Parts: sequence; structure tokens; C-alpha cells
Amino acid sequence: MDETDLGPGEAVLAFDVGGTDTKTALIDGHGRVLGLRRTPTPHGDEPAEAVVARPAELAAELHDAPPDVRPVAAGLLVPGIVDAERGVGVFASNLGWRDAPIRDLAERALGLPIAFHHDVTAASWAEHRLGAARAYDDVVVLVIGTGIAGSLILGGRPHLGGGYAGEIGHSPVAEGPTCACGARGCLEAIASAGAIARRYAERSGSPVGGAREVLVRAEAGDGDAREVWQAAIDALAFAVSQLSATVAPDAIVIGGGLSRAGDALFAPLTARVNARLSFHRRPLLVPAQLGDDAGLLGAALIARESVGA
Ligand SMILES: [Zn+2]
Repeated sequence: MDETDLGPGEAVLAFDVGGTDTKTALIDGHGRVLGLRRTPTPHGDEPAEAVVARPAELAAELHDAPPDVRPVAAGLLVPGIVDAERGVGVFASNLGWRDAPIRDLAERALGLPIAFHHDVTAASWAEHRLGAARAYDDVVVLVIGTGIAGSLILGGRPHLGGGYAGEIGHSPVAEGPTCACGARGCLEAIASAGAIARRYAERSGSPVGGAREVLVRAEAGDGDAREVWQAAIDALAFAVSQLSATVAPDAIVIGGGLSRAGDALFAPLTARVNARLSFHRRPLLVPAQLGDDAGLLGAALIARESVGA
């Protein structure tokens, strides 16, 4: 982890469970991130039990390492639909649980109070407290990678909708194509980095390594690449315009792999959004600052906040 500083506070453990890897860290009383590790996420017949067993082992290992650091709580993040208030993992397509009481399981396994949340919501909270969304009370965070995940912070608080809010990637923006979720014309089926690469390959018959390569080809004058890239920008502009009319965020923070396109993404997207809006509050479109470890920082933040609450 880099220079991002959590500042002084309680020592806590942080776990960010992804579909493939679980990230773990111990945060000391100065806010330093110690022992950052990445281990494969266990999959099994009892996926929720498997997912909390590994953090318990890692917690025991970390507990022995720096003897002067004693965590008083842990933040645990999982993907999917998460009911943070009830402590329940409602559904995670890539991990396989339904209505799993993950917070209770984790509290028993770790013997610590657990702050339990959705991974992208917590990552967005970290951007709000420490990163690109710091200056704004009403902000939407979009993470554009293989898919598109999102999170709303309204009035300085996450807006959860029982775990169903923020699914901007699955808002319909067109009549097609069919999305992995089963609906038609979802934003992520057109504008995610994964969709850009896939749609270009389908259209041109020429496979590419990723969205970055499509952008390079578009800039070199490849007509198929330009159309696919432009369709992605248009779909994103449509979704951002809907968000602007509905929740009027001060800013939209964009992270994930596609945000590394920089000006090639932000300049045309800003122009398209401005062309669509009239009297609306115009959101600033800004790149995320915290990178891939935003979730882990968010887990540490919510663990500390749960102790203070
Ligand atoms: Zn969808």
C-alpha cells in the first residue's frame, strides 16, 4: 500500500473478500497498514463458512506478528448483494451464498466485533473520506472494469437500498445486448472494459487483450474500434445524465481499469454529458485516487467507525 494515511485511531483488521483473492491487512494505531497479504479466496460447499474461516486463520497469524498491536475490531467486505444492516450476504453469484449470516459467522470465528459491508460501498467510502470524493457530500462512485459497479453517497452517507442501490452497471441504457445478469441493454454490457474488448472482437473478428487495445486502435483510425469506444462513451454519458437528473451529485468519481485511459475517457465523456444536460447540476467527473486497495482502506475505516459508534 502507498502513502494513503488512515491517521491515528484504533488498531483494526481489514479483509476484502473478492471472487478470486482475499486481501488482508492489520492497521496499527498510527494508521499504518501492516502485513498486507493477498491469498486465494476459498470456495466450498459451505461458501460463507469457508470465506470467514480464512480471515480467522490470518487474524491469528497477524495477531502473533507485531506483539504491540492489538486489533479491537475487524472490517469484512464481500461482493454481491449485501444487507449491511442485518449483517447478511444476500447473494453473490461468484461465491455462491444466499442469505448467509456472514457477520455473525465472522464474529464467532474471529472473536472480534465485525463491521460488515459491500466491497464497492466500502471502497467508495474510502474515496469519500480519504480520496477523490473528499470534497463532496453527494457523490456517485463508478468502478469500471470487467463489469461496472457503483455506489451512491448522498448527504455524506452511503445510500444502500437494502443492498440493492448503486447497481448502475445494470441500469438499462439501450435495447441490447443481453447482459450477464439476464437483462437487456445494461450499461455494463456496453461500457465496461470487458464489454468494450468483447464487442470489438465480435464486430471485427480480431481478438484483443483488453479495452486499452481497442482505444489504441480507435486512435489509430480503426473504424470498428472507434464505433465500439464511442458507443461506450455514449452509454456512460446517458447513465451519468440520468444520475444527474435523479440524484444531482456534485461529482462522479470513476475508478477501475477503464479510468486509466485518462483524458481519452474523461474528456469525451464530460463533453457528451454537458451536451445532454441543460439546467441540471453538472457533476464533476474525476478519477478515483486510492487505486486497488480502496476496499481494504474502506474496511479499516468502517471497523474504526464501528468502534467509535
Ligand atoms: Zn445487467
